[in-house]
Amino acid sequence: AQLDTLDLVVLIALLLGTAAYFTKGTYWGIPKDPYAASFANANGAKAGRTRNILEKMDESGKNAVVFYGSQTGTAEDYASRLAKEGSSRFGLKTMVADLEDYDYENLDAFPDDKLAIFVLATYGEGEPTDNAVDFFEFITGDDVSFNGGSAAEDRPLANLKYIAFGLGNNTYEHYQALVRKVDAALTKLGAQRISAAGEGDDGAGTMEEDFLAWKEPMWTELAAKMHLEEREAVYEPTFGVAERDDLSADTNDVYVGEPNKNHLEGKSKGPYNSHNPYIAPIAESREVFTVKGRNCLHLEIDVSASNLTYQTGDHIAVWPTNAGREVDRFLNILGLSDRRHMVISVKGLDSTARVPFPTPTTYDAAIRYHMEICGPVSRQFVAALAAFAPDEASKNEMARLGEDKDYFREKVSNQYLNIAQVLERVSEAKWANVPFSIMIESIQKLQPRYYSISSSSLVQKSKISITAVVEEIRVPGSKPNIVKGVTTNYLLALKQKQHGDADPDPHGLTYAITGPRNKYDGCHVPVHVRHSNFKLPSDPSKPIIMVGPGSGVAPFRGFIQERAAQAKAGEKVGKTILFYGCRKPSEDFLYRDEWEVYKQALGESFELFTAFSRETDQKVYVQHRLSEQAALVDELLQKKANFYVCGDASNMAREVSIVLGQIISSRRGLSAEKGEELVKSMRSSNQYQEDVW
Ligand code: FAD
Repeated sequence: AQLDTLDLVVLIALLLGTAAYFTKGTYWGIPKDPYAASFANANGAKAGRTRNILEKMDESGKNAVVFYGSQTGTAEDYASRLAKEGSSRFGLKTMVADLEDYDYENLDAFPDDKLAIFVLATYGEGEPTDNAVDFFEFITGDDVSFNGGSAAEDRPLANLKYIAFGLGNNTYEHYQALVRKVDAALTKLGAQRISAAGEGDDGAGTMEEDFLAWKEPMWTELAAKMHLEEREAVYEPTFGVAERDDLSADTNDVYVGEPNKNHLEGKSKGPYNSHNPYIAPIAESREVFTVKGRNCLHLEIDVSASNLTYQTGDHIAVWPTNAGREVDRFLNILGLSDRRHMVISVKGLDSTARVPFPTPTTYDAAIRYHMEICGPVSRQFVAALAAFAPDEASKNEMARLGEDKDYFREKVSNQYLNIAQVLERVSEAKWANVPFSIMIESIQKLQPRYYSISSSSLVQKSKISITAVVEEIRVPGSKPNIVKGVTTNYLLALKQKQHGDADPDPHGLTYAITGPRNKYDGCHVPVHVRHSNFKLPSDPSKPIIMVGPGSGVAPFRGFIQERAAQAKAGEKVGKTILFYGCRKPSEDFLYRDEWEVYKQALGESFELFTAFSRETDQKVYVQHRLSEQAALVDELLQKKANFYVCGDASNMAREVSIVLGQIISSRRGLSAEKGEELVKSMRSSNQYQEDVW
């Protein structure tokens, strides 16, 4: 009989399937990894994937989905931890989902034997994270309507069982706005909340413990309501890791740190965004502190050869590389040093699992370019690693650290240890039984860090300035006693290189600064731009008041640079007031000489008020100077001045906001409450803008 086309297709598919089975995944990851598609697409579009979550859950046999709204990766990390725990302890068939990957119009058809968990970070001034914007606007919208076929019009989500956890920072005005609003919206739409929404507080430094304390009673309630039986949790890998003897790191299609396929193929092309960095030349770099032992870098990133654009007030993201010393430590303790350049293919073991980096790659590249190996360690992760300890004593120690939160705080958190340091301290023997998959699953993706652009796009359209204080924390009485920021020390190494140091080595950290296959040689750094709402008034004659101590002055250098240029060009520029603070004028007074130059252009309209916290016995901060200038501040506010705050979110921004309320109430003879209320309404009308971290 003749084969028709359909038969032929089926036959070929069967043959391929058989071949794949017998090769046992040896050829994993080359074209078949479902996630490879998203790396192949530089703009992050996930080709060919369904946006229908019900369909996705059905076809992959899942009964629980954990959605995340994440900006810096923490919410994503918590989501995957919940998914894993639900699966290993309660037998749920879980998947993790990026909120932006699905549509929500059919949420009313969500079956009542399934579960949705929402892990939602609140960003900036009560805003959703970038990936949660569409979902948030939809679900909290006034005229939300569904098309999944629900009969109950007043309670369209009556079948939806859900759980929610929020990540926030109590020092911000709109603490936990996201999870609270989504929780309220879901309840209003009739959805069934299984257990009280949890809230983790980064401001109090208790995020992890809040999460751990919330999830235990939550699981108990969930198990009771959904009739789940708890079982002994055993580690089930989400990813398969295959060592590839057939490939070497020199092979052209092995990723040795390239962020996606375009970069692998040597075509750095736009659009550049959070999935696709531009490898930008650093045009200039210099130190802007004048004291030994502390560093602040000023960098000029040249984007003229790209199609990257920015506006004054935007953010630039820098994609870091882990320090060589920490990569070595991590490989060493896992017993992988000899195999560091071994090629590995990593594959999601079910269709919903996404490999967080492109593969095939090498152990070295995955660790160096893609895993946040230096970050804080979670108690739950330490507990999970106990099963793979090299001996009984280490196993017991890991279990104790996992169970006893005070002991964990004393031995791990208070010492700022990273995961490899924890393992080293528990046992110096090689932890060779630890599956690499558990490391990929439990360690966050290495995140780009944001910097408030410190230049004006009007003045330097294709050169983006960064002002970055190099992170260094001294931990009293502990060894190693200094925690080094990943990105800022990498930038410091780049600066050293640019200034002729053949072997830059800030604090003995050593960086692979020429990048994968030397593609970053000649002082390049991977970046992308993120647009922000932190903006100058469109009319330059409007007055502005800026409060930006320390590196918080970064965007204001851009603002003032812009207004000075406008004044020079003959435009009428309104009052431009800057409150700036640092420790001592002789140590860390940023851009001291530049302010003089801007003053010449702006004349009387520019005023700088400085606060030095270590100049005299009396600590003076920007908020004190603000109080002293109450009359001027209030006068300008009455003239509709925009008020901007940038820098430290935890103390400074909150105090500035309080002081402003006091200024308004005392100058206008109003009650304290009324003063606060007016500050709130300035915030909602964008007259008061914050860029804080
Ligand atoms: P990281 O390695 O991220 O370390 C940062 C901190 O994390 C450490 O200081 C420590 O507190 C903690 N930490 C790290 N490892 C551990 C551990 N193992 N255990 C416990 N705690 C640990 N910064 C500027 O200097 N200038 C700017 O203009 C600027 N603008 C910003 C704008 C925005 C919108 C945001 C969100 C941030 C901005 N930042 C800015 C901050 C910047 O993004 C980085 O957070 C900062 O430079 C530190 O990055 P890093 O990689 O060097 O440090």
